[in-house]
Amino acid sequence: LFNKNLGQHILKNPLVSQSIVEKAGLKNTDTVLEVGPGTGNLTMRILETAKKVVAVEMDPRLAAELIKRVLGKPEQKRLNIMVGDVIKTELPYFDVCISNTPYQISSPLIFKLLEHRPLFRCAILMFQREFALRLVAKPGDSLYCRLSVNVQLFAKVYHIMKVGKNNFKPPPQVESSVVRIEPLNPPPTVSAKEFDGMIRILFSRKNKTLAANFKNKSVLDILENNYKTYCSTNEIMIDKDFDIKQVVHNVLDSTGFLESRAAKMDVDDFLKLLYTFNQANIHFC
Ligand code: SAM
Repeated sequence: LFNKNLGQHILKNPLVSQSIVEKAGLKNTDTVLEVGPGTGNLTMRILETAKKVVAVEMDPRLAAELIKRVLGKPEQKRLNIMVGDVIKTELPYFDVCISNTPYQISSPLIFKLLEHRPLFRCAILMFQREFALRLVAKPGDSLYCRLSVNVQLFAKVYHIMKVGKNNFKPPPQVESSVVRIEPLNPPPTVSAKEFDGMIRILFSRKNKTLAANFKNKSVLDILENNYKTYCSTNEIMIDKDFDIKQVVHNVLDSTGFLESRAAKMDVDDFLKLLYTFNQANIHFC
């Protein structure tokens, strides 16, 4: 009956749906984006408070079922169903996003939401437990990773509720958690792509010192290449005894991060490091 490839696990416990919607702190002026409404259990709850719901559902069969559920009711006019893949859909304006997310698209969905403008107020999203714990992990936690840093650069993330697998039909293989994401407004001006370029290198071996991580030959080759491209596009003379190893060493030394390990550094540390690299004309994309 349900399509496992689309991560169709219907939330059957009304108390969980109720609590998710309560945590969103909806106002009666809000437009809510719901990703993957399925048969509409959350949708109907959201419509009790929100002014309008835009629901993006990939499975036309479930979209049809949801239309049936509101047909001829006053809610019908306040529900706009878009059929398609949310990742490929141009999203309309929304104040709040609520989703019992199909777990296959967890990561692209978060980044799509964080890139959306104007920024939304908050998102209440259900994820696999481990994914949720990665999102909220802090420096020093074992799950602290590239995802934690890239998301925490743009948002505050809170773990708000554990949800056991038996609240779903059919039950998924793993436990779930609900998180609340609040984008920083105004957002940081750093390029997400370049920040991630640096974070990728640092987290390839997150427990090694930065000095050790930046000794990697292929990393140094890429940085040298980027440096040369940057200098030629910006008409900067390249020093004849330029040595990428030395420049990288100077950046790490002057920031005090030579012996630091990514696993213990926070977003501000990474921003400071990236800024200092950029001052030395070193870029990560
Ligand atoms: N919201 C419902 C609930 O809580 O009972 C259903 C949640 S179910 C975990 C995920 C839903 O997302 C399914 O209805 C599935 O068809 C839909 N879906 C899967 N991939 C999608 C995508 N890329 N874009 C939009 N919807 C998607």
